[in-house]
Amino acid sequence: MKQQELINQAFKAMNHAYAIYSNYHVGSCILLKDGTTFLGANIENASFGATNCAERSAIYAAYSNGYRKDDIEAIAIVSDGFRIAAPCGICRQVLSELLPQNAPIYLSNGKEEVVTTIAELLPMQFNVEDVKHD
Ligand SMILES: [Zn+2]
Repeated sequence: MKQQELINQAFKAMNHAYAIYSNYHVGSCILLKDGTTFLGANIENASFGATNCAERSAIYAAYSNGYRKDDIEAIAIVSDGFRIAAPCGICRQVLSELLPQNAPIYLSNGKEEVVTTIAELLPMQFNVEDVKHD
């Protein structure tokens, strides 16, 4: 699946966003090496801390279906904002553990596109290696 296809799928997911508070719609599509994709959208809640971002929704869906880091090819994250939607701090932390360090992250708002990686977005990561005691 090409970058543009993955971005288009993420825009489809964006249409499923439940963003009644912010009216800021985000979609994500994660691509597995076997060609499977999972969509994610931001899902807000009146208890704002319970809100889940689109990229976490997508990667949690992949993990919930038995896939793991080594199965992941790329992820697209798109929004309808004025700027591209770079992952928030919580998502960077999650992606740093669940996404391969150099997997392409395609960001788009329909006007501009950026390709990056979690290694670039989150240097000096606190990760599983820091928590292991053996
Ligand atoms: Zn986030």
